[in-house]
Amino acid sequence: MKEITAGEFDREVLKGEKVILDFYSTECPPCEALASKFEDLSRLYGNDIQFMKIFRQGNRDLAEKLGVKSSPTLLFYNNGLEVSTRLTGGIKRSDIIQNLDSLLAADRVKEIKSLIKPTVSEFDVIILGAGPGGLTAGLYLCQSKINTVLIDIALPGGHVSTTHEVSNYPGFIEPQPGYMLSHSMSEQTKLCGTIYKVAVDVTRVDLENKEVVIDEYETVKAKRIIIATGTTPNLTGAPGEKELKGKGISYCSTCDAKYYNDKDVIVIGGGNSAVEESEYITRFVKKLTIVHQFDKLTANKQAQDKVFKNPKINVIFDSEPRAFVKEGDKIVTEVENVKTKDRQKLVSDGVFIFIGMKPNIDLFKDKLELDKWGYIKTDDDMRTSTKGVYAVGDVISKKYRQITTAVADGTIAAMAIAKELD
Ligand SMILES: Cc1cc2nc3c(=O)[nH]c(=O)nc-3n(C[C@H](O)[C@H](O)[C@H](O)COP(=O)(O)OP(=O)(O)OC[C@H]3O[C@@H](n4cnc5c(N)ncnc54)[C@H](O)[C@@H]3O)c2cc1C
Repeated sequence: MKEITAGEFDREVLKGEKVILDFYSTECPPCEALASKFEDLSRLYGNDIQFMKIFRQGNRDLAEKLGVKSSPTLLFYNNGLEVSTRLTGGIKRSDIIQNLDSLLAADRVKEIKSLIKPTVSEFDVIILGAGPGGLTAGLYLCQSKINTVLIDIALPGGHVSTTHEVSNYPGFIEPQPGYMLSHSMSEQTKLCGTIYKVAVDVTRVDLENKEVVIDEYETVKAKRIIIATGTTPNLTGAPGEKELKGKGISYCSTCDAKYYNDKDVIVIGGGNSAVEESEYITRFVKKLTIVHQFDKLTANKQAQDKVFKNPKINVIFDSEPRAFVKEGDKIVTEVENVKTKDRQKLVSDGVFIFIGMKPNIDLFKDKLELDKWGYIKTDDDMRTSTKGVYAVGDVISKKYRQITTAVADGTIAAMAIAKELD
């Protein structure tokens, strides 16, 4: 692995053969999450592909010239030409491998893969999911000197990291940007000494034997497992939704509202998330239409008041989307009135969908007792129906799903485990 500067870029990268180049920054949690994967893969692929790093802040002109806008960004070159898709953000090992493999002949890829040695590591506790529930459990366990690993398929933070503003988390007078709150939570847990394995593929979870396989070859064993995998947004199921996801249909206002400056958008939903996120989206857009299936919004009164006072927001009640179609730059949403069955076509620049969540339990749903909506049943100490397996946060069966309740669940599970392992 080699560190280069902008002055060496032409010689090392453009005149080189096969190169992977990592634009990194300091004080960049995703860069830290990438560093060990990059180093590990350089040992595996280093004879065939040059692994190079360049400090983005110290080589700003080159970064701008190449259109590198965030850290880390991985670029792939073959004989001086950039190839493959760039990778950025919470970069998974499997995505890097896919791009590296595409630079090599199939036989060579096979040889390299045969060199991968499976690894096994052991901890007291595995926490699956690094949202507020998992991070809090990690903090409490770590402070009890319990050897804990946090595993997440994405970067730490969970839903909070993509919530634009949190005004109801105690301890802060002013509303906090979600990414800041989740960053502080994550850093507190990490600084304590909890081990992080994030932006990984979780290949297999064996709750009985307390084993989790990540990135295919790495087995992590423990005495206890805490499931803190949270929820995923529900889809409307209307034709066109899946195809247009990320191409005009979004489930995250913090991520995407900024792209709709002075445009018209539609929000599907009428609960707290839909209404609060709509309020935020109107900072950017010219007009926002909420499409809600009932004859009144189901969000709390305070949030509703804000929406009805906002001149940019219009609400269509008793209606559900039936189809999404892209026409040029626009999205046409076909909406049906559920009472009259009348249909109308709404033309907008983008659609945001906030219609509730479903629990992330695919990897272990057959092994645990669930409620009728698929959420994990727990006792007062957050124990599930499988011995030694706990569950916390939004993934469990409960009435209220908030950051504070996830944090409380994480605390309880950690304290119960600490007592058991003592
Ligand atoms: C748009 C929106 C706005 C919100 N605003 C507020 C608010 O203002 N105030 C408030 O109190 N609450 C708010 N909430 C609710 C709050 O975000 C959740 O209650 C809270 O984040 C739940 O925490 P959690 O740790 O249970 O799960 P999550 O935050 O969902 O985190 C779960 C984590 O598990 C990871 N994961 C998923 N599957 C796996 C797997 N198989 N293996 C490993 N890891 C996995 C995910 O990547 C994620 O990081 C909001 C939610 C949304 C969607």
